[in-house]
Amino acid sequence: MSIAVALAEVRARIEKGCAAARRQPRDVTLVAVSKTVDATRCQEAVDAGQLVLGENYAQELRDKARIVRGATWHFIGPLQRNKVKYVVGTAALIHSIDSLALLEAVSAHAQRSSLRQRCLLQVNVAQEAQKSGVSVEDLASLVDATRDAPGIELAGLMCIPPAEGDPRRHFAALRSLAERHALAELSMGMSGDYEAAIEEGATLVRVGTAIFGAREARA
Ligand SMILES: *Cc1c(COP(=O)(O)O)cnc(C)c1O
Repeated sequence: MSIAVALAEVRARIEKGCAAARRQPRDVTLVAVSKTVDATRCQEAVDAGQLVLGENYAQELRDKARIVRGATWHFIGPLQRNKVKYVVGTAALIHSIDSLALLEAVSAHAQRSSLRQRCLLQVNVAQEAQKSGVSVEDLASLVDATRDAPGIELAGLMCIPPAEGDPRRHFAALRSLAERHALAELSMGMSGDYEAAIEEGATLVRVGTAIFGAREARA
């Protein structure tokens, strides 16, 4: 299937999900997750009208941002502090701030570059061991720190629910956390569950495989 055809299918399903939830399609941003996808195919997506691309490896983002024309980049992966320099300013939105140390590194770099970096906080909604994301009990203090951090604009929350089981209650939990903190953006839903995420209030869905096909395993 061509990227343009796959994109049209995903967009149609987003519209259906919005209709079912009585929401407006313009309130849901599709982030086409292009990790491991080469720059030529990223360009194909942009040329087919998909302007927002999501990456989760810092150097890959830096490299593709130099080549692909017309894209708006989001960073959605785990971020090491020494790689913040590749991401701040290049990504219009960082979805994956999950610690005070990372927040401070992003804030420092944004200030040095005289810019305001839009960010989401990634929440470990299912309290999984080993998983990225701030714990639910530490979220409130990280929200406060993020609101106070110079050079940072806090826009909302992000989660990756467990691969097994029904993700809906985790989506609903993220939504109620966002409401509690008066945050507008909710990044949740991937190829397997973005319609459910839209029904639960997602404003950003991160879809890779359904657009670009299966990825090869990464070494
Ligand atoms: C890879 C990835 C996605 C996309 O997953 P698909 O199942 O291919 O749609 C979404 N979010 C994050 C954080 C990812 O790393």
